[in-house]
Amino acid sequence: MNKEKIWLSSPHMGGKEREFVTEAFDSNWVAPLGPNVDGFEKDLATFTGTGYAAALSSGTAAIHLSLIMLGVSAGDYVICQSFTFSASANPIVYQGATPVFIDSEKDTWNMSPEYLEAALQDLKSKGIKPKAIIPVHLYGMPAKMDEILKIAAAYEVPIIEDAAEALGSSLNGKACGSFSNFGVLSFNGNKIITTSGGGALISNKEEHIKMARFLSTQARDNAPHYQHSHIGYNYRMSNIAAGIGRGQMLVLQDRVNQRRKNYEFYKTHLAGFDGIAFLEENSGAFSNRWLTCISVDPAKTKGGISREDIRLALDAENIESRPLWKPMHLQPVFANAPFYGDGTAEKLFENGLCLPSGSNLSQEDLNRVIQVMKSVLS
Ligand SMILES: *Cc1c(COP(=O)(O)O)cnc(C)c1O
Repeated sequence: MNKEKIWLSSPHMGGKEREFVTEAFDSNWVAPLGPNVDGFEKDLATFTGTGYAAALSSGTAAIHLSLIMLGVSAGDYVICQSFTFSASANPIVYQGATPVFIDSEKDTWNMSPEYLEAALQDLKSKGIKPKAIIPVHLYGMPAKMDEILKIAAAYEVPIIEDAAEALGSSLNGKACGSFSNFGVLSFNGNKIITTSGGGALISNKEEHIKMARFLSTQARDNAPHYQHSHIGYNYRMSNIAAGIGRGQMLVLQDRVNQRRKNYEFYKTHLAGFDGIAFLEENSGAFSNRWLTCISVDPAKTKGGISREDIRLALDAENIESRPLWKPMHLQPVFANAPFYGDGTAEKLFENGLCLPSGSNLSQEDLNRVIQVMKSVLS
């Protein structure tokens, strides 16, 4: 294949990252602590408005520590959005607890408040009180937080907000990840900004962030020797990675703007084609448009073209696209977990496609993608 590869979403450096990393080398802060870690945490806390942040080795670690802080242990139940990446649910099992999966609703593709309530009611009737609820702002689209928070409060279950894909997104002006006491961010290589790999816990409660820092550095008690009264983890972010993060924070707004432009481009150029639907923003919602997602209805497209037809046509031109996340309740590893829903997420998985969405795509790249799509759909 000689055509240059177009990736779904690849790292996009701004330029200043190298300076922060060089500073770390020059001052020998090559460790999981240092001025870049402090600076990056400050940037995140300020940007999201939470006030406090702990920089960690991954978003998965942030979810795991949140569950630990909420006391989740063997035999417990934790409610989780089914339509998500497996990292939202895996830490539940690390703790020996059982995930309970909730279907999506059609407006945002995120946790259905209706089925959340049905699950809480049903569990209550069985004498079960779940330890946490994990809604996700998938693909950067804010979940219906007002409804979810209200239901969670009524049943007195705390929320861990998985905003791993939603840095830069907001709902009624409030940043995704700042709606509960536990907000999760990820800076993996394909996210809207990257530290090559990393994550953060954000919170408006300083004690949670202090505890996250303590647990993520092997839970060392305050003593001259190494004294431990808790089980600890090695989950802290390195000062090198945090240097990349500080540089990336300087261009975050540009990255959001560029990804939103990608979405507008695709939407404009595919407007005339029947059977192609886009994920739209509800009133008050602002999506970072991490990935542009479409759903393809083969009953309505010309010639019955399906999601797979489009994906394979793009692949043949060396263009990466990807089916939407396969819901967790359909994953072999979670086959025995309870599920509440009506098949919405399953349908999205069947018909949905993520299009190349990097902030570093050139106009030429976007034209190449749209040309292939138009030719398959005509
Ligand atoms: C990426 C991602 C995570 C995990 O983040 P890592 O930093 O890769 O551990 C969690 N949830 C969702 C929805 C994600 O997309």
